[in-house]
Amino acid sequence: MQVHFRNTRRTERVDGPLRVSQVLERFDVNPETVLVIHAGQLVTKDHLLPDDAEVELRPVISGGAGPARCHACPAPSVIEVARHRAAYCAGHFVDHVRSQVRAAIDRHGMLSYDDHVLVAVSGGKDSLALWDVLLDMGYRADGLYLGLGIGKYSDRSGRVVADFAAARGARLRTVNLADEHGFDIPRATADRTRSSCGVCGLSKRYVFNRVALEHGYDVMATGHNLDDEAATLLGNVLRWQTPFMARQSPVLPAAPGQLARKVKPLYRLGEREMAAYCVIRGLDYVVEECPLVEGNTVLRYKDALNELERRSPGTKTQFLFGFLDRVQPRHFARDDADPGEVAPCAGCGMPTSVPRGPDATGEAVCAFCRTRGRLLRGGGGRPRAAAHR
Ligand code: SF4
Ligand SMILES: [Zn+2]
Ligand SMILES: [Zn+2]
Repeated sequence: MQVHFRNTRRTERVDGPLRVSQVLERFDVNPETVLVIHAGQLVTKDHLLPDDAEVELRPVISGGAGPARCHACPAPSVIEVARHRAAYCAGHFVDHVRSQVRAAIDRHGMLSYDDHVLVAVSGGKDSLALWDVLLDMGYRADGLYLGLGIGKYSDRSGRVVADFAAARGARLRTVNLADEHGFDIPRATADRTRSSCGVCGLSKRYVFNRVALEHGYDVMATGHNLDDEAATLLGNVLRWQTPFMARQSPVLPAAPGQLARKVKPLYRLGEREMAAYCVIRGLDYVVEECPLVEGNTVLRYKDALNELERRSPGTKTQFLFGFLDRVQPRHFARDDADPGEVAPCAGCGMPTSVPRGPDATGEAVCAFCRTRGRLLRGGGGRPRAAAHR
């Protein structure tokens, strides 16, 4: 049979028939990190693959073992979710994803049906699945795509998002970083203060917040999932970044005129579940990693958590939910997250913290404008005033 690997694209041959679990062992692949797709369908570890099978090992993270039948009906399962000790057929898996999103929204009062929601969409599985689920649940949800200028990766991401919006008849807003702000993310590799992922994250937060405020959206939804949030928490714990720990939440409240409310309706669902949702729903998404991902430290924490999850399913949820439910409310005072005095940025007019300390000049310039200024001075950018459609 032929086994197709993504990311590092290659195809290996192996004699069959073999069970999925045997194929994974043969190639030393952690089952937590992949979906196995045979003949366009997800298959579980006991599925027998014939000798002439073509199998795709699609990289994701999370998941595990479980029973072979759907926990809600007699149909065979297509996906196992070890931390719930459950397996699902395609239809009941989609119900499971929606019910977890519903639980997140209701538990934290994230959204109401009167809200106008802006979904940050990248072309990856999480944000497209989120937009899909919110539209199906009847929310008024527009998409916002930020063009990062990362070569073919960004070209494909932009196409995937536009195709999804057209297919669903949904409104998509697009901001191109180079056109609007004079630099792109590959140029950010020249920045000595932040990694390219750091500049990328800063740019996304800035642009999404600005567009949400300028166009009067009530709330901004992002596709951060359980793996993202658990990995971020682990990174913050390892370095005792207490101000970040105080702010880490499925809901960040609005500061009127300054910050749009931000919600993370997927925080109860793992990456593997989101990838499976896209496959089952037939959503095309960008599987390949961003070519600049080397600078993304969160991936190391995801790997570590996946090793723990493999041996003890449920570790990630216990870690994250335990922090959110028990540790944060008791041990992190709101002062930890206090941004201090806020004033309009001298560069772009968006609200930003006024600098404190003996070296402070008193002029407030936001982190995005400082970074943008460094990049444009560093060579080759197209200086112009920051502006949005
Ligand atoms: S890997 Fe880094 S540069 Fe690439 S999209 Fe993610 S945050 Fe941006
Ligand atoms: Zn079922
Ligand atoms: Zn600014």
